[in-house]
This record gives sequence, C-alpha cells and structure tokens, in this order.
Amino acid sequence: METKTNRRNFIVGASCSLCGSVILPSCSTVPLTNRKQLNAFDSNAPIIILGGGTLGLPEIYGNEDSLNKDTERQYERFLSRAKAQNILLDNTDESRKIEEIGKEIYTSLDTYYLNKREENPVGTFNWKFALVESETVNAWCMPGGKIAFYTGILPVCENDDGIAAVMGHEIAHAFARHTVEKLTQYSMMQMAAIGLSNTKTGTKLLNQTYKNLKGQRASVFGDLIKFGIFLPYSRKMESEADYLGMGFMNLAGFNIKECSKLWERMGKKNFNILPEFMKSHPTPDNRSKKFLEWESEIVDKFTRV
Ligand SMILES: [Zn+2]
Repeated sequence: METKTNRRNFIVGASCSLCGSVILPSCSTVPLTNRKQLNAFDSNAPIIILGGGTLGLPEIYGNEDSLNKDTERQYERFLSRAKAQNILLDNTDESRKIEEIGKEIYTSLDTYYLNKREENPVGTFNWKFALVESETVNAWCMPGGKIAFYTGILPVCENDDGIAAVMGHEIAHAFARHTVEKLTQYSMMQMAAIGLSNTKTGTKLLNQTYKNLKGQRASVFGDLIKFGIFLPYSRKMESEADYLGMGFMNLAGFNIKECSKLWERMGKKNFNILPEFMKSHPTPDNRSKKFLEWESEIVDKFTRV
C-alpha cells in the first residue's frame, strides 16, 4: 500500500518536469535562485537506485537524512582509504586552511539566515572537509556537505580567495541539492523501467548482459547506475553553483573578483582528464565572463555578514 502511495507521489514529482507549468506547485524551488527543481524527498517520495544496495538489492532512500547518512559512510570510507595510502593530508597548514575557509563560508551562511530570521536550508548539514594528495585538478562535494579538495587544484586557486571560490562552488552544489535532483531524475527513469520489467521482453532486457567498451561483461543496469550516479551536473546546475558560490564567498568577506581570475587560470590549464570543474560544459572563458557580469548583483544580494 505504502509503495503505491509513494509511486503515486513519484508520478506527481515526475509531472513537474514533464508537464512544465501545469503541476509546478509540486516542484521544489532552489533557495536564493528560485529555480524549479525535482526533489523526490519534498514530495515525500523515496529515491530508489536499482541494484545500488548490497547483493544487488535496490538502495532505497526514504528521505534526505537517510541519503546523507549513507553518503557520510561513503565519505568516511574514502577518507580511510586515502589515509591507508598515505595521501590524506591531516593537520598540515594546507589542510587546516581548507577546513578554515570551508567553515568561514558555512558559518557566514548561518549568520545570513539568522539575520533574515529565516531557517537555513542547510542548517542541519554536518559539513566536513578533506585535503587529499593528488595531481588531479579537482574538488567535489557529496550530498549533506562532505567536501574533498585534491592538492592539484591548489596552484590554480593560487590564494585564499581562489580556494574560497572553489569552496563556495562546492558548498553551493550541496546547498542547492544538485545530487538529490540528479538522483530523483535517475530514480524516475528507473520507475519507468519497472513498468518495462512487467513485460517478458522488459525482463529479458533488464537481465541482459553485454560487453562494455573494455570488453568486460557488464549488466545493462549496473552500468546505468554508475553512469547515473556519476553523471556530471548539468550546465544549469554548474552555473547555479557558480552564482551561489560567488554569493557565499561574498557573505564570508572573500574577494569575489578572484572568481573570474580563477577561471582564466583554469582555462590555461591543459587537462588530460576532465575533473568536476571541467566536464560540465560552460567553457572557462564563458564562466569567467559570467562572473564579471554578476559582480555588482552579488555585492547587493549577498552583502557581507
Ligand atoms: Zn561543479
């Protein structure tokens, strides 16, 4: 019975992107940018990742709390592996700096909402920051505020404001629930596949294995799941994280003029792999220009707390 209700909620959630403005009230809104987004949890629907659990069972997240707890466990596993490989930088000047800048930004966000007498949408997040030794020019954030920087990005950041620009961007991904949005879309895609599994052909297709590009046998859904989860953020999400990140930087008193400079430096890098910062479309040049356009608006809207 409960499943049925949940599924119905899901359909309502699905309608909001599929039918546009017809059922928009069921859509969530990203705070501060007011962009409409899909968020299963706001419709009290679960996120279901087929085969995402142990022994290939579906992973079901009934609410944001359960998703965040699970990502926290994954983050801890990532940290222990990094520690075992001696690449986790703990208690160094650089790692302390990453932590300090992260803390300055999220506490400024707290103050910003406190001043507005509004609830901070990410006030319950348990923010964590790590610095890992790696040449990769990258940083990422898991839902619920688990952030990692790779040392390879530090020379591109160049200074504290540059680090704050990257940090603001990552905090903004978590703030705007971009991963939840991605997983909601993905979960809905699978819901459609469940319909497919009720037919003989559908079952056959779902259980089918095929040779992937490396010539290994892989299940259709196994790969889709990985692809779904590690799917890059969309162009809109990246741009939103750029905008909000710049705003959060300003709240904390960092120099937002560094954003466009940082992206100029990114543009000069010759990446042989595509990290989080590069794979999602807006070219560094366009990004750099956007930051310049936003500067005066950001100063007004996100006044230093
Ligand atoms: Zn990003």
